[in-house]
Amino acid sequence: MSGSDSADEEGQEEAVSTGNGDLRQRIDAVQERIAKAAARAGRRVDEVQLVAVSKSHPAGQIAAAYDAGLRVFGENRVQEAQEKIPLVGRPAVWHLVGHLQSNKAAAAARLFHLIHSVDDAPLARRLDRAAAGLGRPLEILVQVNVAGEDVKSGIEPDRLRPLLEEIARDCGTLRVRGLMTIPPLHPDPEKSRPHFARLRELAAFARSWGLPGAGLDELSMGMTDDFPVAIEEGATLVRIGRALFGERISPAP
Ligand SMILES: *Cc1c(COP(=O)(O)O)cnc(C)c1O
Repeated sequence: MSGSDSADEEGQEEAVSTGNGDLRQRIDAVQERIAKAAARAGRRVDEVQLVAVSKSHPAGQIAAAYDAGLRVFGENRVQEAQEKIPLVGRPAVWHLVGHLQSNKAAAAARLFHLIHSVDDAPLARRLDRAAAGLGRPLEILVQVNVAGEDVKSGIEPDRLRPLLEEIARDCGTLRVRGLMTIPPLHPDPEKSRPHFARLRELAAFARSWGLPGAGLDELSMGMTDDFPVAIEEGATLVRIGRALFGERISPAP
């Protein structure tokens, strides 16, 4: 399975190092790899949404990507998004993929269509209050630390049920659309596979709890180095930065 993707992988490396001129070519290459991975898994390509992670890249490049056909963009810092979104000047869909500090919850609720990174109840409550104030439901994902490693973002799998119950009880304006995970960085994408499989199983388990407001159909998993494997394991949202925009010049924190 992954063998058939490794030829693509090399082509991708090449594209990443050639600057910004071939944005459309990179978009095509990523979309083709998405389609191939979906086909390998017997899934329809429209079950997988590409989230173009544009953090650290200027508004002009995001506008160019929009004009080349991309519609959904992921940012990881509220302030950066706040500055860039008006400059992009196109009706794109914005997702927050990075960690969210609760003092930025109100701004995030205003700017983003989907928040991928909710991982505790106080943050969920602040987002809920902000969304209620805006008078519209807010879609979120719960970020889960499936690897169980010592990282700062994501809840432990055994905390998922209490958190979802709390959100269902206290956060009537939030819509929990699914789960998100970031596996430990590893050069071999196959190392991510068990973590992606775990997230899919966890979401299926959580759906069986039948909590109101929690559809849990979305799985946000897979980045530049491992998105084909994530799609094979059921990803519905892949968050891809470098394969589309090239290496980040100043790595976003
Ligand atoms: C930066 C980032 C991505 C994109 O990573 P690439 O390796 O550039 O594809 C995806 N998800 C999150 C949460 C990120 O912060």
